[in-house]
Amino acid sequence: MADDGALSLHPVQAESALIFSALVDGAGRVLAGVFPDGQAPDHLAAVLRPPGAVPFAAWWAGVCQGAQEHSPQVALACFDGPDAVCSPVRVQVTPVAGRDEALVLCIPAQGRQRSLIWALHHISLALSRTDLDRLLRIVRSHVLDLLPATTFYIGLYDQEAEALTLREAISHGEPVGIAEANPHEGLIGWVLATGLSLHIRDIQRDPLPAPYVTHSALPLSHSGLLVPLAAHGEMVGVLSVQHVEPHMYTDEDLWLLEAVASQAAVAIHEVYLGREAESRSHMLTFLQDFSLQLAASPRLPDVARVLADALVTLAAPDEVRVYLRSQQGSILDSVYRYNADGNPPFTSDWQHSMDPVAATVDREAEPVVMGQLTRGTRGLVYAPWQPGALAAYPIRRGDQPLGAVIVLYKEPHLFRQDEQRALSLISRQTAIAVEWAHYYADLAQRFEQVAALYALAQQVTGTLDDRDILQLVVHTLRDIFRCRACVIALRVDDTDEIAIRAAVGVKAEWRTSARFAVGEGVAGRVVETGKPIYVADVHASSSSLIFDPEVHSVIAVPIAYKDRVIGSLNLDSVRTNAFSPSHERILTIAASQIAAALEIARLYQQAQERAEKLAAANAELQHMERVREELIQNLSHELRTPLTYIKGYGSLLQDHDLGPLLPEQSTALKIILEKADTIQRLIHDVVLLEQISPETLDREPADFDTLIRQAFQTVQVLHSAAPLTFSLQTGAPGHTVSVDRGRLNQALDNLVNNAVKFTPEGGEITISTGVVEGGVSCTVRDTGIGISPEHLSRIFDRFYQVRDPARKGAGGSGIGLAIVRRVIEAHGGTITAESVPGEGSAFTLLLPAADHLPAAETPPGDDPPPEDEQTS
Ligand code: ADP
Repeated sequence: MADDGALSLHPVQAESALIFSALVDGAGRVLAGVFPDGQAPDHLAAVLRPPGAVPFAAWWAGVCQGAQEHSPQVALACFDGPDAVCSPVRVQVTPVAGRDEALVLCIPAQGRQRSLIWALHHISLALSRTDLDRLLRIVRSHVLDLLPATTFYIGLYDQEAEALTLREAISHGEPVGIAEANPHEGLIGWVLATGLSLHIRDIQRDPLPAPYVTHSALPLSHSGLLVPLAAHGEMVGVLSVQHVEPHMYTDEDLWLLEAVASQAAVAIHEVYLGREAESRSHMLTFLQDFSLQLAASPRLPDVARVLADALVTLAAPDEVRVYLRSQQGSILDSVYRYNADGNPPFTSDWQHSMDPVAATVDREAEPVVMGQLTRGTRGLVYAPWQPGALAAYPIRRGDQPLGAVIVLYKEPHLFRQDEQRALSLISRQTAIAVEWAHYYADLAQRFEQVAALYALAQQVTGTLDDRDILQLVVHTLRDIFRCRACVIALRVDDTDEIAIRAAVGVKAEWRTSARFAVGEGVAGRVVETGKPIYVADVHASSSSLIFDPEVHSVIAVPIAYKDRVIGSLNLDSVRTNAFSPSHERILTIAASQIAAALEIARLYQQAQERAEKLAAANAELQHMERVREELIQNLSHELRTPLTYIKGYGSLLQDHDLGPLLPEQSTALKIILEKADTIQRLIHDVVLLEQISPETLDREPADFDTLIRQAFQTVQVLHSAAPLTFSLQTGAPGHTVSVDRGRLNQALDNLVNNAVKFTPEGGEITISTGVVEGGVSCTVRDTGIGISPEHLSRIFDRFYQVRDPARKGAGGSGIGLAIVRRVIEAHGGTITAESVPGEGSAFTLLLPAADHLPAAETPPGDDPPPEDEQTS
């Protein structure tokens, strides 16, 4: 032994281990370090040891804190250091009265005990690092090395399953396979129930503990030992050696077997703990995977599938059924069934109502777990086969039922706590995913509705026939809301009646009897009050409103235009609670679209009717005009010949060729001839007017300013006697027009004649030219009496004359300006008039430039620069 070594006690009784470790000084005194239950004591109060003695040859002892009377009875005391030596010792622990200390006495073991302690130490080492199968084999081989036995077994007790499995069993020297035994029966049952060891010296003679039931998987031999396998207060099994001979075991053998059992139990417990830790870590990974998959499943059918998938992986059932509710809650949206025998494994829409067990957990909000269905309960769940076990969990968020899930097994199945915890956790996680899927579906639906409304608005405003509009609306709304029927009823004109104007999904008989009074039925009530109506459950409501018996919920909103309720828009469904406030909002928008569209259609119809009337009146007018023209033409032609006679004979009379005339006769004849001249001019003008057209024009290219200047010169000559000032301002040099000179001069003559006629003495008449876009202009301006606005627009009409005292004696026939307009328009130009009564008038004609004429035809540019000419 080294002087400075560390002494340690290796417990061989693992359960109540005292790990003893001490520092020994040069004189062999232990200085410090007792570790009961792995905890360092505050101090080693005193060490007693025979001085100078060889450490293992004699006893030695210490006082330590925390050591207890039942601390290990045997140990391997080892000294560390260069020459580590170990020796089996028996340990006695004696508590010190009144103090938290104990006297620990180590006595070197002797004889068989010494070798047994060594054996236990080896077992202890071997057990500490192995799997369960190997562990059980090691226990068996060591026990059978130490003790004689014709029967051996290690019974492993599964407290949760209430099952006992016999392992490493030997019966009459022969190995027996793994066997099940009843943990509540026989001597095993007694040991498990009491936790005490049993030493049977002779089964024929010994009194056996009550209640002793003979039934046991392995028959008990003549003598035997049964010791409990217990670790950390938990019963993990039974260890037994038996022999066909009586009196084969001593008390020391029992002590040995107990020591082995104690170590084995701790090791088995550790294996269990290891397994549990492993399965927990698996479970964590699994749940994490499951959460990730759920998070990636925004839609309800995906959630159902992920859940079914997870349950198949986790619980390996024969069938899984998942029932998820839609966001309306009342109907099952996603039903998934996985069947281990099925192909393909997943089928959707399998069933539209929950099976009774799922319905119960959904209603009661409590899981149902049945590991072993009895004959009476097997028929609880519909299945082509009779299930042996089932577990059903509600899927809920708070008070809100979102569905249920059920797993089914053909055979009875032990639902372990861990498994149940996992199932419950999975159901809870699914509930969150379902809620999200609802939000997602709601969002998607709203988006769809808004998009549909937008499309509807576009279609409706693009349609002008009100019947088409309404039909389009009812179809679109029914599609958007996926409901049974959609109806639009409108007030009949200004009566107290309402009539169905468009409907879809309604039975024919309801459509035909479709007239009712304001205040009657849902639509009537909405029109009467101007307020929406929503009946969530028609059959539960006491409302007197009449419904088709098929209908379970109804929503109706008023159709109003400018505060006037013109009708009602109704939707109904075969489901209860089918509508929500968001439906009402969307319907209200749709109703206002309908109202606006109807108003537009009404206005359009009105406009169209007016246009038709106007077109008819116009056609009538044109017809009259033609008739009048024809009449005038005919009259004019017919009047020519008699007029020639009148004028001819008038001249003869005037010239006295037919005899002398009295002075009064001569005066009368003069008037007759003047009036005949007037009629002849009129006829000439009328005929002329009819002759002017683009086809009859004799056009030639002319320099515009030159043309006007020449016309001005003629005007000056013609009106030289008039007491007026004439002036010319040319402003379109080098601009060529293609004109009929004669006709254009005539038009200018008419304009100038009028100006002369209506301009009092001292007035001014100006002719000016200019350039406008695409052509040239010529304005004849005077400082005359002017024309009032009400006449201005009509003076170009044929035979239109302004009649007022200022123009008395002006003569004329109202055809001059009509001729001007005809001439200018025949040239492709326009004529306009402006006037301020009392100040003067201006007539402006625009002619297109002769751009299309070949350059050769354009007269040479001999234009003088712009100039002003004036005469009076
Ligand atoms: P009329 O040959 O009877 O003058 P017109 O067609 O030439 O017929 O003119 C139509 C009407 O326009 C005339 O009644 C006349 O009073 C009015 N009018 C035409 N030119 C002028 C003018 N420069 N100033 C005032 N009134 C005019």
